[in-house]
Amino acid sequence: MKAMFINGEWVKASSGDTRDIINPYNQDVIATVAEGNEKEAQFAIAAAREAFDHGQWAHWPARERGKKIHSVAALIERDREELAELESLDTGKTVEESRVDMDDIAGVFRYFAEMADKDGGEIIDSPISNSTSRVVHEPVGVCGQITPWNYPLLQASWKLAPALAAGNTLVMKPSEITPLTSVKVFELMEEAGIPAGVVNLVLGSGGSVGAELSANDDVDLISFTGGIETGKRIMQAASSNVKNLALELGGKNPTIVFADADFDTAVDQAMNAVFFHAGQICSAGTRLIVEERLHDPFVSALVDRVKDITLGSGFNESTQMGPLISKEHLTKVVNYVENGKKEGATVAVGGEKPDDPELQNGFFYLPTVLTNCTTDMSVVQDEGFGPVITVETFSTEEEAVRLANDSIYGLAGGVFTNDIAKAERCVAKMRMGTVWINDVNLYFPQAPWGGYKQSGIGRELGKTGLEEYQETKHIFQNLKPEPTHWF
Ligand code: NDP
Repeated sequence: MKAMFINGEWVKASSGDTRDIINPYNQDVIATVAEGNEKEAQFAIAAAREAFDHGQWAHWPARERGKKIHSVAALIERDREELAELESLDTGKTVEESRVDMDDIAGVFRYFAEMADKDGGEIIDSPISNSTSRVVHEPVGVCGQITPWNYPLLQASWKLAPALAAGNTLVMKPSEITPLTSVKVFELMEEAGIPAGVVNLVLGSGGSVGAELSANDDVDLISFTGGIETGKRIMQAASSNVKNLALELGGKNPTIVFADADFDTAVDQAMNAVFFHAGQICSAGTRLIVEERLHDPFVSALVDRVKDITLGSGFNESTQMGPLISKEHLTKVVNYVENGKKEGATVAVGGEKPDDPELQNGFFYLPTVLTNCTTDMSVVQDEGFGPVITVETFSTEEEAVRLANDSIYGLAGGVFTNDIAKAERCVAKMRMGTVWINDVNLYFPQAPWGGYKQSGIGRELGKTGLEEYQETKHIFQNLKPEPTHWF
């Protein structure tokens, strides 16, 4: 049984509760893990509090913290294959995709390891005679980190590495259905010699462990990636002690395709935008917005290619798309498409579960293209988190941008055109945290990631990803203290 990591010890749940972890490809039980609750969350928060308030981690030279984070990266690189296979077992995604994730994850640890000692603060030109003024960055304190099931370890790495680089202590709660790679990375952090109490892992449900992390007054910062409704609940709970807050709440991301775009590239990238990991990606390009005169040939080419996508086990080399994460999520995607049909969308391809007998034990849904869509449909507005792309049309540049912005979300978006001035005019008006010109879905540790509007608060990755985990302190010194006789 996989245990939790609290104050440097691997522990079972005090209740004795456990949870079976299911392979979404065939519903086999692949592991049993401890199922903690509020009690374990409180133990872990207390350990992190003690390690922050009385331990040395926050006061280590940043360079030494950076070395430890480099060690974690090296261990991830050493165990890349094991981690990738574990991630695929747990999520159903192809091992090839998981290998890419593991390389990205090691890269994230290396990036923040390097960042740790690069900013020693700033000297301010004081406007007051005989004084000095400087700004330093300090850790925020105890961080609660709550991660989702779609990119379990990648999302964890975006939170763990910067929190550690900045000198914080933390308690992480991964999604209850995909905890396996998180458990493994905590083993690696222990092996790397991160001091006891600095990193703590509590397994359990959002309603108990997650809610405790969000509300507990000993937690100084909460960082959450997941659904918008959960994000709102966390925001409310975090107000109890005015916690620092970082939220990544997903998106409904548009891809605008102009008629002058490179046709084959745009078709190919429209597929990349939405069918990796069966569309369970916060930045998935689920809204295709195509110039009217291009619509018919574009949809026809897209449908031809979508028909050829091979579904199956993530461990099979020929598989291009795995299952959805759970039975509940499959039902959600089925209902989402059915609603779209009722609203008037036309299924150009897919729109149902596959009938292949080999896939019946898994949570599979066919890659789907819905045409005749308009922005007032729920299928265009709601985040479906499945392999489903909707197609809308536009006739002018202004209309394309207006449609793209017509969403409560603002995470990411793309523009395909060979007219670079037109692309620049569009992206300048697109209200999203990331915009891609002639590409989709790209992210890397050096560039910030996060959303406008209801896609969230704050930015992970990049310099901003470290700053989220830092307080800023201004230190002023009077070099010639003497009475002012003001009173
Ligand atoms: P949730 O938002 O419910 O889950 C994300 C994390 O939050 C999990 O660890 C979950 O715990 C935890 N959580 C749940 N309730 C609470 C709470 N009250 N307080 C604190 N933490 C809590 O996402 P779902 O897994 O249910 O997915 C729902 C939808 O969210 C998806 O269909 C998709 O639209 C979106 N989503 C967006 C993601 C993104 O990257 N932005 C990622 C995943 C989902 P647990 O589940 O373990 O109980």
